[in-house]
Amino acid sequence: MTFFDSHCHLDEGSWADPTESVIARARAAGVRYLVTIGGNDGVDYARAAVARAETDPEIWATVGIHPCHATLVNDESFAAIEALSSHPKVVAIGESGLDYAWEKEAPREVQVAALRRFTQLARRTRKPLVLHIRDAWDDCRRLFEEEAQGEVVPLVHCFTGTLDDAKAWVALGAYISIPGIVTFKNAGQIPEAAAWVPEDRLLVETDSPWLAPIPFRGRKNEPAYIVHTATRVAELRGVSVEHIARITTENAARLYGVA
Ligand SMILES: [Zn+2]
Ligand SMILES: [Zn+2]
Repeated sequence: MTFFDSHCHLDEGSWADPTESVIARARAAGVRYLVTIGGNDGVDYARAAVARAETDPEIWATVGIHPCHATLVNDESFAAIEALSSHPKVVAIGESGLDYAWEKEAPREVQVAALRRFTQLARRTRKPLVLHIRDAWDDCRRLFEEEAQGEVVPLVHCFTGTLDDAKAWVALGAYISIPGIVTFKNAGQIPEAAAWVPEDRLLVETDSPWLAPIPFRGRKNEPAYIVHTATRVAELRGVSVEHIARITTENAARLYGVA
């Protein structure tokens, strides 16, 4: 089986051992392709993701600034991200989005302004937009409809919404990425959404080093664990894990324009 981890943070800095070992374990587990996310707390984080992608032909990067750190988006940081976005290993913009659970650290209007800029960047670069959405499903969708509908392909990463949210985003052309949370007992409507997403829009991700699936819940997550998430998604859809591995790899390759 070959897997594609559509969303991991390889150089987050909280790994117990060197990133090279994490990547080696991923490959041993069949995770051949990885997209490392360069959207967190600023330009250095984005640069590190691009540098990581340069070390391996089957690792690619995204660039952006996370909504929880939207206060860091200014003309200077945005220009630096924009410059990085034309790098040949950069396959998407993000993660950007709206996370209202963090509005004390990053006020809503600041998050909205940042998301508008990154959505426009995705539009100009013709690259997909990696969206992080928490407690802000309707606002994020409305903003996307205003700024980019039909012009940008959205990837709703770490999907934690309702079945209706999944349907609304797919109607806007989105890919839906299912995280390890789908293996938890208390997974909300993620299992229903994972069972429903059309076959050509389904992705799986680890979001490692966070959100390890069962049986590793509470520990540091890593791309090798994606098989547990894919196995649960396969159960929910009544298909084999081999099938999930194949379609999610094809979908991620098509979306990111790689492999
Ligand atoms: Zn996220
Ligand atoms: Zn992430």
